[in-house]
This record gives sequence, C-alpha cells and structure tokens, in this order.
Amino acid sequence: MIKELEKISLEIEKDLKDLDIPQLKKKYLSKDGTLQKLFKNIKDVKPNQKAEYGKTLNTLKVIIEEKINDSQREKSEVEDNKKIDSTAPFDINSSKEKRPHILDLKGSSHPLMQELDKMLDIFQRMGFNILESRQIDDDFHMFESLNFPKGHPARDMYDTFWTEEGFVLPAHTSTMQNRALRRFGPPPIRVVLPGRCFRNEATDASHEHTFYQIEGIYVDKGVSMGHMQAVIKEYLSQYLETELEVKMQPAYFPFTEPDIEFVIGCPFCKKVGCCVCGYTGWIELMGCGMIHPNVLSSGGIDPQEYSGFAWGVGLDRLTLIRKGIKDIRKLRDGDINFLRQF
Ligand SMILES: [Zn+2]
Repeated sequence: MIKELEKISLEIEKDLKDLDIPQLKKKYLSKDGTLQKLFKNIKDVKPNQKAEYGKTLNTLKVIIEEKINDSQREKSEVEDNKKIDSTAPFDINSSKEKRPHILDLKGSSHPLMQELDKMLDIFQRMGFNILESRQIDDDFHMFESLNFPKGHPARDMYDTFWTEEGFVLPAHTSTMQNRALRRFGPPPIRVVLPGRCFRNEATDASHEHTFYQIEGIYVDKGVSMGHMQAVIKEYLSQYLETELEVKMQPAYFPFTEPDIEFVIGCPFCKKVGCCVCGYTGWIELMGCGMIHPNVLSSGGIDPQEYSGFAWGVGLDRLTLIRKGIKDIRKLRDGDINFLRQF
C-alpha cells in the first residue's frame, strides 16, 4: 500500500505541471477521485502501517489543495489588474499587495482639523458659542468696522487679495467681530470664530498664503484685562496640557485698545531655550486686547456700558508646535505619506 502511495506521489508531481485546476480537482479531490479512493482503502492497510499511510495521504492532499489555492489567487490578481479605473486616486489601480496602506486607509481628519476640534471643545466647555468665518468678505468687515477708516496706514499691514469686484479674502478672522457682536448681542457675548485666512505672502517653512485663525470675543459689563489674561491662559494651559507662565507685551492693532501680544514661557524647554522658541525661552503666540470702543459701537454695543476683549491665534502655528512639524507648507501640499502619520 505504501508503495502505491509513492507511485501516486510521483504521478501528482507530474500532473501539477501538466493539468489545469479543474482537471486536478476532478482527478484527485472529487468524490470518486484518486485521493478519496485511497482514503477509503485505509481499512485494508496493515495495522502497523496505518499511521504512515494516513499521514502520507494527508500530505499529498495538502500539496494539491495549496497548488489550487495559489493558482486561484494568481488568477484573481490578474483579473484585478485588468480593471483599471482611470479616475481613481493614488495607486489604486496597482495590485493589492502593492498598496497595503491604501487598503488600510479608512480616512482620517487632517491634523489641522484635529487641533481645531480640540480647541473648539475647550472653548465650548468654557461657555463660548462658535461661528465660522467667511472665506470672502467686504471692505467694511475687513477694515472699516474694525476701526481702519479708508486711507488708514495700518491697512498696509495686511497684504490682502482683492477681487475685481472689490471683495477681499479675509486676512484675519476679525472680519467676523462685527457680525458676532450683532448676532450674539446684547451682552454677555462669548463666541469663538474659526476660519481660513489669506495673505499675499512669499511662502517659506514658517509662512503660508493660507492659514487658519481662531478669533475670540468676550463682551459684558465690567470685563477687564484681568479676565482676558485668565481666559487665554486657561485655554492655552488646557490646550498645551501644561501649566504655563505668561506675559503680555505691547503691540499694535487698530481694533483693540490697549493692544497686547500674549507670550508664553516655552513649555517645551521650560524657558532654557530650544528650536521651537528660537532659543529665547518665550513664544509670541497671539495678538489680543480690549476691543476698541469704535468697534463695539459699530457692532451696535454701547462702549459706555460694556467692555470686552478679543484675541486671534494662528491654528497652523499651534499645530506645528504640538505635532512637531518643521515646515508649515507640509500642512497643505496634499502629501498622503505625511498626513498618514497623524
Ligand atoms: Zn523652548
């Protein structure tokens, strides 16, 4: 009996080369195929040979099944490769083995949006409303409502894009202050205004023509600089997940008075000096200040009765800091290998 198996094993070796899959299945694996017959014969094998006989027979069966599986896999791959979708993105048309990442890629939010969600979540818990800014606006909201009258030299601080019809791509999210004051007034008004901003800038590792800003305003009776410092410090501590040392230094914006630059002790080097803080130990993070009375009036709020503060912070800059990204342009160049890291 064992001799018979040896003979069949040689035959199988030859057939694996010569026969196609249906022929192999029929000859060896079907109900009345060779292997089934041999399995039935096991009762006639001498007791001391039964174990070896069964083992050899099983091995032969596995060899044939593997050959059939391999061949079917190859066939389906060839079929797959024939179906080319010329509109599909990335390397979707290449074979499955060559694109494991694409198969794994179930979609994820952009690192900027991940950070935005985190920030908005903090502000919502602090009781702020959210209103998204516009991506095209007018002269009134970009300048006049913010205390930049026509011809004001501070307009030159903003290298904005204008359309032929006289609309402007917002250079900051402060364009939304007037709308927010009117929409959420009368005070108390607590609102954050995230949105895309645009500047006519030459780009490099730390400058982009397009970026996100998050504006915030808080208006009520008796609001002071102390409230501003507390709110911004609390927000940044929660966002950067560490206790912060802060200082406020003078700045200039037409729409706030006084105007402040909010500076934090570098949380990465504990003020010793590192590449994130430019080896100064401090990071200038955002502009802020008490909202100018003219801006409140233009939003329908009486500056004699109410006061408030506003701030604007760049989301891209914070994202670079939090995620350890060295080049701001990576956030928008659509490099899937880069984005996949987050
Ligand atoms: Zn540092």
